[in-house]
Amino acid sequence: MERKLVSIQRVDHLEDIPGADSILKARVMGWDVVVKKGDFRVGDACVFFEIDSQLPEGKDWAEFLRPRGFRVKTARLRGVLSQGLALPVSILEGETPPVGTDIREPLGVVKFEPTSPEGSDVAAPFPAEVPKTDEIRLQSALGVLDELRGHDFYVATKLDGTSATYVRMLDGTLVACSRNWALRPSTSRTWQMAEKYNLATVLPPGFAIQGELCGPGIQKNRLGLDALDLFIFSVHDFRTGQYLGHAELLAFCERLGLRMVPVEHVVTGEAARTFDHGLENYLKLAQGLYSGTKNRKEGIVIRPLVERTSPTLGGSRLSFKVINNDFLLKDED
Ligand code: ATP
Ligand code: MN
Repeated sequence: MERKLVSIQRVDHLEDIPGADSILKARVMGWDVVVKKGDFRVGDACVFFEIDSQLPEGKDWAEFLRPRGFRVKTARLRGVLSQGLALPVSILEGETPPVGTDIREPLGVVKFEPTSPEGSDVAAPFPAEVPKTDEIRLQSALGVLDELRGHDFYVATKLDGTSATYVRMLDGTLVACSRNWALRPSTSRTWQMAEKYNLATVLPPGFAIQGELCGPGIQKNRLGLDALDLFIFSVHDFRTGQYLGHAELLAFCERLGLRMVPVEHVVTGEAARTFDHGLENYLKLAQGLYSGTKNRKEGIVIRPLVERTSPTLGGSRLSFKVINNDFLLKDED
């Protein structure tokens, strides 16, 4: 599901911040966000900008973020975590659209993207056979928790590298892709992994594997690897349009000699039935270090053991991420 970077939402809760006269702590969807006192009463609609919103220049309502390059980022104000920006609907011209409406475009907001060096290698658009890799943030899609409740599920570590997809076409050709593009065969990191794992022969035609490419020179190499490696998180059968479930994914990786992303917890049976699916609990699980390192992990990705579709996510697979708030506050670029 496309992320709704800016949308009409409701202020569900307001509370005082000890020692602060002019600001309040508000709750919008699953986000805690600091707002100006007097801007809202509980239940009011607001214009909600998620973190990573890059506001336009030349709008009065965006001026206060000029010193921060107009970027909405995780912050701590008076000791309170603030994620996003809630402004009164009076900043909009005309009638207020219904709650949930995506208003990124009319407001001229774009997504902040740290520059990615994939330019010169692009060969073609991303193959239409396979969904691009993406994960929704739990706080923006709290409905997924009810959809997961009662089902066996697992928690994987979110690795902080770069996305790679390899598709073996039915005619046997191997297509290697970055997050958004098919890459021309070269000595690029993405193609090095195709060589290392011999994907042009071992990957069965009709299948795509998707993983995180990690190692020296990629992001901050927070796993502390000595050499590049690929950590698989999805296998997609494009003839059926299905992803493999957890057990099949494990077996598939084992058979092809591939590594999977680290799986931190597999929760089944009674433990799954009684699991605390509260946001707070997930935020705790998202904290901590990459195992064997002193580096904070970026977060976790949660999926049912058996693939399911998610009405909350518009019918795509049930899967979501929870980003480590310590990472957002201290490590994010
Ligand atoms: P946003 O959706 O918040 O705007 P974004 O689209 O840049 O941010 P990321 O925060 O990088 O996305 O999260 C999605 C990406 O996480 C996937 O594309 C994938 O490359 C990567 N990833 C790393 N580890 C995992 C994992 N264990 N499971 C699934 N995806 C993972
Ligand atoms: Mn995304």
